[in-house]
Amino acid sequence: MSQYTALTLGGTEWTPEFVTFLDPESCIACGRCFKVCPRDVLNFVDSDEEEDEDVSAAAKMVIQDANDCIGCGACGRMCPKKCFTFEAKEV
Ligand code: SF4
Ligand code: SF4
Repeated sequence: MSQYTALTLGGTEWTPEFVTFLDPESCIACGRCFKVCPRDVLNFVDSDEEEDEDVSAAAKMVIQDANDCIGCGACGRMCPKKCFTFEAKEV
């Protein structure tokens, strides 16, 4: 197995790293990742929907559709709480 790679416009190879986990314990629902994501991967949910009684914030960020991730890493660079985990895709 090898890692899936892509090419930049200039033809340079790079390895996308895709979102695999968003730590709900660390997330402060600031929305920075949601604003910067170019795809429909992330979304807010009410804390009640998560059924987490210990959460005081009104909303949390969740991975809504991991399959739409292009592996740009922008969400992780913007997150002030380092909530995201990424992995390259094996092919
Ligand atoms: S890596 Fe890029 S496409 Fe994937 S969730 Fe983060 S910002 Fe969105
Ligand atoms: S940037 Fe980080 S802390 Fe802010 S909503 Fe996204 S995952 Fe949560």
